[in-house]
Amino acid sequence: MIRNTLSYARELDFKDSIKSYREKFWMPQHEGKDCIYLCGNSLGLQPKDVKYALLNELDHWKEHGVEGHFKGSMPWMYYHKFLLEQSANIVGAKKEEVVVMNTLTTNLHLMMVSFYRPTTERFKIIMEGGAFPSDQYAMESQVKWHGFAPEEAIVELHPREGEDTLRTEDIIETIKKEGSQTALIMMGGVNYYTGQFYDLASITKAGHAIGTKVGFDLAHAVGNVPLQLHDWNVDFAVWCSYKYLNSGPGGPSGVFVHEKHGKNPELPRFAGWWGHNEDERFQMKKGFIPMEGAAGWQLSNAQVFSMAAHKVSLDIFNEVGMTALREKSEKLTAYMIHLIEELNREQKRFNIITPKKPEERGCQLSILTGKEGPKLFEFLTEKGVIADWREPNVIRIAIVPLYNSFEDVYRFVELLNQFNS
Ligand SMILES: *Cc1c(COP(=O)(O)O)cnc(C)c1O
Repeated sequence: MIRNTLSYARELDFKDSIKSYREKFWMPQHEGKDCIYLCGNSLGLQPKDVKYALLNELDHWKEHGVEGHFKGSMPWMYYHKFLLEQSANIVGAKKEEVVVMNTLTTNLHLMMVSFYRPTTERFKIIMEGGAFPSDQYAMESQVKWHGFAPEEAIVELHPREGEDTLRTEDIIETIKKEGSQTALIMMGGVNYYTGQFYDLASITKAGHAIGTKVGFDLAHAVGNVPLQLHDWNVDFAVWCSYKYLNSGPGGPSGVFVHEKHGKNPELPRFAGWWGHNEDERFQMKKGFIPMEGAAGWQLSNAQVFSMAAHKVSLDIFNEVGMTALREKSEKLTAYMIHLIEELNREQKRFNIITPKKPEERGCQLSILTGKEGPKLFEFLTEKGVIADWREPNVIRIAIVPLYNSFEDVYRFVELLNQFNS
């Protein structure tokens, strides 16, 4: 029995075995109290230890200057390596299949250089309609750069009339239909607007059946939903770290390249010295020889400060593990859905467009509002809720299992109720 009371929410928090992780983060304040922070899908909170990790690198620089590249327990020369194991665990990959570098859209382009190799017969990209704008622009500009017209080359997937999210069967159907004309399937892992978690394994399988490459933008999936990129045989993936992975504004991006491609030095790519065979990097010789694995796509030396911040949260993820996070996450969203449906039974109308099946969503719920939407959002903001408004009329709520509580959920829904009454 789920009871609609604050004390019941607190009981759930009491029973939560990973509740103490909230204490590892700084919660923004509103009128002297904790905000109800439901925006971890835009910018994750700051781990308290980030400050010390940054001070540590500043001291290292101060003490050693350029020698910092080779000295200390985390020499800058190898800095990206200190983030690999944790990143690999989060996305279900081998260590050699991941690397942390650059930023997300940059990496999307770098991956497309290698994996979008259109010919006159096979040139199409299948993607979700209404994808995050940066992804739309990246696809469009890649298609044009290869001399094709976006209207012909980009196939968008849209929900059926009257539905809000895509059906896997329809995605597969389109993949089959476009067949041998398709060069790449490139989708989000979790759609940023609806919160739908796509069936990445089935999409990858269907893509490979028609002989195309399959890549995913995991900006809203990484650190949110369970991923098995290696076993699903995904060709490549990219993600950012400042959303669920809490690396701070502009934090670095992660890249996955399946080992079957990572072992192929002939695969075309845009190269830089940091992707070159590490043993010879400083011989400054002519002729690029890529390192094996995702590391062979690196261009530049590591952005140490942003990676230092990123590592703090990665270590927290590694400690708590995606299994425990996912378990709590499903409970949090189920609780919120239940409470909102209770409100709806009392003639309130909050339409959750995110799929109700747990396997089709992560920790985000998208609430479609009517014309009172902007006013509702303003009301929530005044009451100390930090959420996210997306045009034209959706409030996105992320209930992050690392630092959100059942009490946060309860209080948020209580405010929804207050607004309408
Ligand atoms: C957040 C997000 C981005 C942002 O791209 P940056 O290059 O990190 O600025 C891109 N794509 C998706 C799907 C996102 O959710």
